[in-house]
Amino acid sequence: MAKRDYYEVLGVEKNASADEIKKAYRKAAVKYHPDKNPGDKEAEEKFKEAAEAYDVLSNDDKRARYDQFGHAGMDGGAAGGGFGGFGGGGFTMDDIFRNFGDIFGGHFGGGFGGGGSRGGRSVNRGSDLRVKVKLTLKEVAEGCTKKIKISKLMACDQCGGSGAKDSNSYSTCPNCNGAGYTIETVNSFFGRAQTQRVCPTCGGEGKVITSPCSKCRGEGVVRGEEVVEIRIPAGVAEGMQLSVSGKGNAARHGGVNGDLLVVIEEEHNPELMRDGNDLIHNLKIPVTTAILGGEVEVPTIDSKARIKIAAGTQAGKVLRLKGKGLPEVNGYGRGDILVVVDVIIPAKINSEEKKLLEKLAAQPNFKKTDTVRGEQNIFERMRNFFG
Ligand SMILES: [Zn+2]
Ligand SMILES: [Zn+2]
Repeated sequence: MAKRDYYEVLGVEKNASADEIKKAYRKAAVKYHPDKNPGDKEAEEKFKEAAEAYDVLSNDDKRARYDQFGHAGMDGGAAGGGFGGFGGGGFTMDDIFRNFGDIFGGHFGGGFGGGGSRGGRSVNRGSDLRVKVKLTLKEVAEGCTKKIKISKLMACDQCGGSGAKDSNSYSTCPNCNGAGYTIETVNSFFGRAQTQRVCPTCGGEGKVITSPCSKCRGEGVVRGEEVVEIRIPAGVAEGMQLSVSGKGNAARHGGVNGDLLVVIEEEHNPELMRDGNDLIHNLKIPVTTAILGGEVEVPTIDSKARIKIAAGTQAGKVLRLKGKGLPEVNGYGRGDILVVVDVIIPAKINSEEKKLLEKLAAQPNFKKTDTVRGEQNIFERMRNFFG
């Protein structure tokens, strides 16, 4: 892709003043800021493109070279100075925040993704938010995308999150003289020690706002709602927590957003009880089916399956539907559906049934009271199954 002209990128004239260039860049950076355009690759590219243009046009030497040779003058080592390798356009988000944070008067300062500190100044970080998401068995089995409306602190759109009325609404912090930290000398038994701490007046920003933004009253954040799309992988379980980076509360005066923590809840399914990645179904069959055998329907995650009941099936027998359970959350393997057979003994019978049963009761196979040889009884079976 051909590189765009730097003046065009910032939308300024060839003879634009340093101040005009700075203003144009600030406007572009606020518009395409990743916090405002989450997941938008095009905005990210524009954000980087503007930073690159600003890097060159804000530096007299680079600008002169660019004016004379165009992009060719910027390539490779020719760019010199500045920060390493930038002339070629290899600009990361981190570079932008680290090098151009100052243009916003502290706003946008600090590394992307919580770099900790920048030149000794602390970075504001918004607090994390927690939401609960209830999933059906099918959603757990297949994974899903949930759109959730979240009430949270967002960067004020009037001031771009800085909290200031405009770029002239700052003065150097009188307490730390712009350093963002103060040095304290502590006398102790072991002698004098110096400790550095974040300036309490400016909160480490090195600057104080002289005229605050009217919308957010200088906070840089306002309460708003955002619909966040959350991708939930297959195989998650009750109580698991997913973290969506940067979707929590915005920080006061810019900085790094907190995270959104998504806690998984499972909807109760009366037919399929979860046991790890296996699902247990309690199947009730008539006593005649248990004796004669037959075909019955059992529920699966998304439909039903027909299974064969062998003649002479005992209560407590466990039938396994291989691979019909839940997927492993890491993507390897799948659980089973375990069908535990229960035999229904009718609590009420009519006179005709009674006659038939009395006839049956006289038959040799219905007179036995011991278990079938080699068969475990129901207690042994359950004990073996559930370990
Ligand atoms: Zn200060
Ligand atoms: Zn504001």
